[in-house]
Amino acid sequence: MIASRLAPFGTSIFGVMTRLATEHGAINLSQGFPDFEGPPQIQDWAAQAMRDGHNQYARPMGAPPLVEAIAANLEEDYGLGYDPMTEINVTSGATEGICSALLGLLNPGDEVLLFEPFYDSYPACIALAGATAKVVTLRYPDFSVDFDEVEALIDERTRLVMLNTPHNPTGKVWQRAELERLAELCQRHDLLVVSDEVYEHLWFDQARHVPIAGIDGMRERTLGISSTGKTFSYTGWKIGWVWGAQPLVSAVAAAHQFVTFATATPLQIAMARALRELRDDYLTQFRADYDERRQLLLSILDRSGFQCAVPQGSYFVLAAFDGLFDGTDVDLAMHLIRQHKVAAIPPSSFYSRDVAEGQRLLRFAFCKRRETLEAASQALADFRP
Ligand code: PMP
Ligand code: GLN
Repeated sequence: MIASRLAPFGTSIFGVMTRLATEHGAINLSQGFPDFEGPPQIQDWAAQAMRDGHNQYARPMGAPPLVEAIAANLEEDYGLGYDPMTEINVTSGATEGICSALLGLLNPGDEVLLFEPFYDSYPACIALAGATAKVVTLRYPDFSVDFDEVEALIDERTRLVMLNTPHNPTGKVWQRAELERLAELCQRHDLLVVSDEVYEHLWFDQARHVPIAGIDGMRERTLGISSTGKTFSYTGWKIGWVWGAQPLVSAVAAAHQFVTFATATPLQIAMARALRELRDDYLTQFRADYDERRQLLLSILDRSGFQCAVPQGSYFVLAAFDGLFDGTDVDLAMHLIRQHKVAAIPPSSFYSRDVAEGQRLLRFAFCKRRETLEAASQALADFRP
């Protein structure tokens, strides 16, 4: 029954692994959602917004207080000026933002440059738009970009580059020099960029998030995407947004009006306040807490014999299991769930060009309480052969 455009994509691995984790009573380090509550005041602000009557359809491009808060933060965080009413479109999570951006911009037959491992909704939405993906592999353990390979894939049908930084699942944070090279290619070949920046506030060590929209010449050809799901630990509220030059955002709005029309009103009002009030102190503590969880997970995986790529951003660790287990990522994920009651994501479904690269890796999420990570440590204690 499934339409031929969607049939190849099956069921998203995130839902599959969380279901298996529940069925087997496993500790869930698979799907990326926190197992702790975000700031409690945000819930009070949402309840207040409901009581204040913010309960009907929102303005399709986003409730004014929210788009104004987003514009103010873009200016303050990155020195980027965007008009809140015409250059920002609130969406039901970044997921809807990605879909509306690709549906709004792509024509059938267009090609999109995609870096693998990719977030699984990218190729599916590219296919929904009737376009095709051309894929460049970022290879474990440093995930560096071969720009000659990127350029060799570009032809007259290439329309857009799908970028994600900080990157899920590798933890790579694109450095300014890499973004400048990509920007130069985009300008030379007249390409647009859709830049998924949902982990914009989650970076560690020396890494810093740089939005490609701020690189010279890129404002007119870039859409940025972000979400409150990660930053405030409210993934279930699905409040995201797309921002960029007005003609590009108009294309997103043209799709968004027919995909969801508008996003949950009281949750937008609450998140507007969160974006304004939970700033430097909150974000510094947020990163410090995540850094602790990152170090803990790295030490647990290291002790179990995994070879981790140390993430510079996001809340995932991608780890190789050479010499530890004989089989694919899916075999090992099933073994860990059944024998050790720990769930991780087998990342081969994030690859389409070099699937074997994904078959030697597993992705573990560290958006989990210390107790959860310590329980995983116990569960993995007798894993090392
Ligand atoms: N992009 C990336 C890279 C993600 O990891 C996620 C989800 N974790 C999303 C988009 C989706 O974000 P949202 O939950 O706001 O739809
Ligand atoms: N982004 C989250 C992850 O990578 C999950 C999102 C989803 O389940 N669609 O695990």
